[in-house]
Amino acid sequence: MCRHLGYLGPPLPLADLLLDPPHSLLEQTWAPRDMRGGGTVNVDGFGVGWYEDDAEPARYRGSVPMWTDTAFDGLARRQRAGAVLAAVRSATTGMPVVATACAPFAAERWLFSHNGVVAGWPESLAKAAAELDVVDLMTLDAPTDSAVLWALLRHRLRRGADPAEAVAEVVGQVVRTRPESRMNLLLTDGRSLIATTWGHALSVRRTAESVAVSSEPFGEDESWTPVPDRHLVLADRREVRLAPLPEGERP
Ligand code: GLN
Repeated sequence: MCRHLGYLGPPLPLADLLLDPPHSLLEQTWAPRDMRGGGTVNVDGFGVGWYEDDAEPARYRGSVPMWTDTAFDGLARRQRAGAVLAAVRSATTGMPVVATACAPFAAERWLFSHNGVVAGWPESLAKAAAELDVVDLMTLDAPTDSAVLWALLRHRLRRGADPAEAVAEVVGQVVRTRPESRMNLLLTDGRSLIATTWGHALSVRRTAESVAVSSEPFGEDESWTPVPDRHLVLADRREVRLAPLPEGERP
């Protein structure tokens, strides 16, 4: 499955986060350590979104492995950001390998990533997708489970739903009927991070000035804490809160 990360903290070059640390997201492209049986490498594209000042985020996506994109290497060494969401992709069998299928998905201030798979796709998501506007369906980023999850979440956010509740609801919509799905979601507006664990790894690192969540710990420090499965993570620069997902508590 894919690997993703989110960061909030002092501005730093994207390369300091994504390319240069030991076991960076770049290394997780070709040598991930904890895929839990969902794929082996993450070479079907990548994407990064970042925030500068108070503006809407910028985004860079490509359908090639991160290491082959020399333009990205140059960009990542110059561009600084204090809020970042990035992902490397292992396409689920049958889903297209195109840049638009890569996270982050974006709208207004939001960036979103899904690490996992919706079991029984596409039939299993058809009922949930029927609540979307036709135009939402006609303008999906790509014909993938992740793009439909993003459309479902964006629909709730645009109607003013609480972001954490909206994320938990989208997980619930899927796992109530297909609990074997893998539903690690990650959402940010550049000020807070909302993440879920359902079937995949995730760790959190807090320092005095920053917070990071990542499918696999990167960097040399020992301060990463694994998030238990079936949990919701709410994080900003001041605190990290964990709560069990409602469906995870039901027998
Ligand atoms: N199922 C999604 C896709 O194909 C996410 C893949 C993943 O997490 N490996 O894009």
